Amino acid sequence: MSDDIRGGRLEVSGVKVAYGDMTAVWDAGLTASPGRVTVLLGCNGAGKTSLLNGIAGSLPSSAGSVVLDGKDLSGSPAWKRARSGISLVQEGRRIFGDLRVDENLLLGLPRVSSAERRRLLDDVFEDFPLLHEMRARVAGHLSGGQQQLLAIAQAVAGRPRVLLVDEPSSGLSPVAFAQVLDVIKSVRDRGLAVVLVDQLVDLLLDGIADDVVVLDRGRVTFAGSAEQMTPDRITSDFLA
Ligand code: ATP
Repeated sequence: MSDDIRGGRLEVSGVKVAYGDMTAVWDAGLTASPGRVTVLLGCNGAGKTSLLNGIAGSLPSSAGSVVLDGKDLSGSPAWKRARSGISLVQEGRRIFGDLRVDENLLLGLPRVSSAERRRLLDDVFEDFPLLHEMRARVAGHLSGGQQQLLAIAQAVAGRPRVLLVDEPSSGLSPVAFAQVLDVIKSVRDRGLAVVLVDQLVDLLLDGIADDVVVLDRGRVTFAGSAEQMTPDRITSDFLA
């Protein structure tokens, strides 16, 4: 298995994201650390996607700071944040359905020599053997779970420091989602910092969360370790 994954420490605080007059995220923050998964929970419309986009820079944030390994990226555009190591896998598997699996993966690789790109592609296939079997297939013909794996593999191929994954369970069967979670756990175990948004609270808390942040109407109502996130707190936070 390739061993050049290097996680980073992401520190986000005081972020505000608005759509015109409508503020979706108020003064929100989270941290992500190498080898840990931070799960971001909250009801529909709580602001989870908006916060992820504010962190990645795909939506502007009018306040707050985003710091990766001590480097302040708060005023930086999305491409600079991506180049610094923040990679966002957006909901809905943004892959190119009319390209082959290997062509999609090549698009995620850095611009290096073709020999080096072949080596990096081999690394990705070592990490994602299922995609190696499917490398010549047209991505749009893969199942939902396989497309989700491809989207995550494409992001991991770029060797990010922090992987942000938005709603990977969306449209997937429980079995397919479990496979996606296994892949996320494996990159986490190899040192990547991961922030995961999903609504399947029990599955996340049982299976993958190291740290938990709860958003409610754009504000953080809980931040702590998964052990501190007891079932009674989930109920009260989600019914609040
Ligand atoms: P879900 O779990 O349903 O995906 P979420 O927690 O990710 O929800 P967001 O999608 O961030 O929440 O939405 C937060 C708030 O911002 C909601 O009130 C939503 O209606 C609003 N919102 C989201 N996107 C837009 C947009 N493009 N324009 C205007 N308002 C938006």
